[in-house]
Amino acid sequence: MMTSTTLCKTIGGCLAALLFLTPIQALALPQHNPIPGGVAIVDLPVSDETTPRVFFNQQRVMVRRVDNKWQAVIGIPLDIKPGSHLLTLMKKQGSKELAFKVKNKKYATRHITIPNERMVSPSEKDIERHFREKPLIIAALQTWTEQPEVESNFILPVKGRLTSPFGLKRIYNKQYDRIRRHTGLDIAAPTGTPVIAPARAKVIRIGDYFFTGNTVFLDHGQGLLSMYCHLSKVSVKEGDELKRGDRIGDVGSTGRVNGPHLHWVISLNNTKVEPKLFIDAR
Ligand SMILES: [Zn+2]
Repeated sequence: MMTSTTLCKTIGGCLAALLFLTPIQALALPQHNPIPGGVAIVDLPVSDETTPRVFFNQQRVMVRRVDNKWQAVIGIPLDIKPGSHLLTLMKKQGSKELAFKVKNKKYATRHITIPNERMVSPSEKDIERHFREKPLIIAALQTWTEQPEVESNFILPVKGRLTSPFGLKRIYNKQYDRIRRHTGLDIAAPTGTPVIAPARAKVIRIGDYFFTGNTVFLDHGQGLLSMYCHLSKVSVKEGDELKRGDRIGDVGSTGRVNGPHLHWVISLNNTKVEPKLFIDAR
């Protein structure tokens, strides 16, 4: 079989390979990877043009039209049990349940040492602050915006080294009784490195929070949100409409960190999922 690389040996061939690959590629992300913390793509048995309404865990789910067929794009929680799960498809009369399978995945465990003990065992005042901030973060990630064409093929928001992966089980300063999941992807880069929008989106919230420091929330539409944490500088304002590549701010080390990096979160149907599924690794 001829691959795009072998095709690319001639300029004409390369163009042919691009023409051949581009339209399919644009529709392929996020990838189907039905594991805890992953994304499931489920074909919907509907033939009409009107956008179907689909729910999972009482949350509205993103749908897209591919080759004249509707698909649901479902974010799967990290704490889900592997096995069969149900989606609800709302019909004109009543509703229909659709089953999809979630596979198992073993995530690694890592020990983290944070020199600032206050960040590991926060004071009462810090906890109070965190509980004031938490509902604001939750509300932002619950945003649903009708958006027929969601740009869900992302580019990496910063040039840097991928450090802590998504889903990692973390033990801070040897507190074995409190294993916490890492619900984002860490990209390490020097303070001041530009952080850019991975795709078209709207800035819906900017805040300075105890754990995540200076944080920007982007709304991509249909329950797809992304979060940029620990920024040293924010260069957008709430309400800004961004295109892929527009600068959001700079990498920093605000909030709970042990060095400058971007903590990048992607949320789909109010569920934090593996950001790598939205990136074309090629
Ligand atoms: Zn992180």
